Amino acid sequence: MDRYASVIGGRDVDTEQVIDVLDPATGETFAEVAAGGSADVDAAVVAAQAAFPAWSRTTPAVRGRLLRNLAGLITTRREELAALESRDTGKPMRQAYVDVDVAARYFEFYAGAAEALYGDTMTTSPDHFSYTLRQPFGVTGHIVPWNYPLQIGARTVAPALAAGNCSVLKPAEEAPLGPVMLGRLAREAGIPDGVLNVVPGYGTEAGAALAAHRGIAHLSFTGSNEVGELVAVAAAANHVPVVLELGGKSPNVVFEDADLDAAVPVITTAILQNAGQTCSAGSRLLVHRAVHAELVDRLAEAFAAVRVGPGAEDPDLGPLISGGQRERVAALVGAAVEGGNGRLRHGGGVPTGLADGGFFFEPTLIDGVDPTSAIAQQEVFGPVLVVTPFDTEEEALRLANGTDYGLIAALWTRDVGRAHRMARDIHAGQVYVNTYGAGGGVELPFGGVKKSGHGREKGFEGLLGYTQVKSVVVRT
Ligand code: NAD
Repeated sequence: MDRYASVIGGRDVDTEQVIDVLDPATGETFAEVAAGGSADVDAAVVAAQAAFPAWSRTTPAVRGRLLRNLAGLITTRREELAALESRDTGKPMRQAYVDVDVAARYFEFYAGAAEALYGDTMTTSPDHFSYTLRQPFGVTGHIVPWNYPLQIGARTVAPALAAGNCSVLKPAEEAPLGPVMLGRLAREAGIPDGVLNVVPGYGTEAGAALAAHRGIAHLSFTGSNEVGELVAVAAAANHVPVVLELGGKSPNVVFEDADLDAAVPVITTAILQNAGQTCSAGSRLLVHRAVHAELVDRLAEAFAAVRVGPGAEDPDLGPLISGGQRERVAALVGAAVEGGNGRLRHGGGVPTGLADGGFFFEPTLIDGVDPTSAIAQQEVFGPVLVVTPFDTEEEALRLANGTDYGLIAALWTRDVGRAHRMARDIHAGQVYVNTYGAGGGVELPFGGVKKSGHGREKGFEGLLGYTQVKSVVVRT
């Protein structure tokens, strides 16, 4: 069985205790990963601190070249990485290829962006020359979830490294292999030892140790709200900035003038991609009553045509990550259906005819849910779309903004004025009009408002976030 160690200071560092890595399509263990603890995290931080003085003084051109080497290696190993990511997370191969390509794009994009990172000069007085320097923080800590391990791992460390920081990356215990591969490939790409360290392990051990480590100067956390709060408290105790990329309950808002032919496949993919285990999943459908019945009928047809199966067979819908996740999804759906909240139009249970041990769940469509109910308010993190009709633009906006979250939103309308009004007033970090998501969209700043988190990753904004500004004044 393949074994994946931590990558610390350029070396593979194994542990006695290991974590079994399960194939979500069968429930069987197919690999083992080191269960890093606080000593491993400490060694990783020390390695990063040792690497920092030299790395932070390299020119952006040199850093960019090395990050491009890493992007190139990710692309060369595309087949192997996609197969591994699909097996580790259960996602269909087609999605795993996208994840690999986007991971490579992050390193490529930030390699270039680093060279465009300048300070400013200011006219403060005739006797002073004033300017700003954008400097790295030092050692940055990154804690990532299991849903897009390779893509999110790359998204968070690429700008940090490009800006001259050295990083410690902690993958999720459920799907740690993509980030470990990033650590190995960084070494192969010639990135100096200690610049990128990867320490897999349990959240309560390696994760908590990294969040609380006094050697960490900046934290980035992507995951659940509950753990995000713990990480924010740990960051506050050490007075370090923290980016929180948390959950969502993102709406597709469909007006009466929408192009339904265009909307149906996009709304379907927005919730079923990665089995709904996407922070920015389009998990709520708000639809004008004039097109409500037609749109729901067409979505029910689209859901009925979905092929469910193991990721390796490249179905439309793979399994959920774990038995626990499936129980959570089933409980939320069960409570809605049994409580008479809405009408089940498709799915709602475990599909038949698939491997017994796999964590599959049917694509599920529930129409007419109470917008204040648990299934309409909480992040289900499964292939479950809930529908609520509306009558006016004002009501649509109130419903769209009526959850604690604010990650992304999509508007379907041909009315340009309405699109701009809604885009301005909706609570979200990203708004799409007549489309949903950006297939990676490495150039677009990403992050939430309200309980979806704070801070931004991706785009040039993400790079700025990994620098701190120093003002310098010289008397002339
Ligand atoms: P999670 O919060 O359980 O785990 C995330 C990471 O935190 C894992 O690496 C885990 O090991 C670690 N962790 C757990 N306990 C910890 C602790 N006490 N201290 C420090 N670290 C700890 O989340 P998950 O179940 O892996 O992921 C699903 C959640 O992530 C969903 O809520 C989803 O919306 C969110 N998410 C957000 C984004 C985004 O960009 N906004 C992207 C993907 C996922």
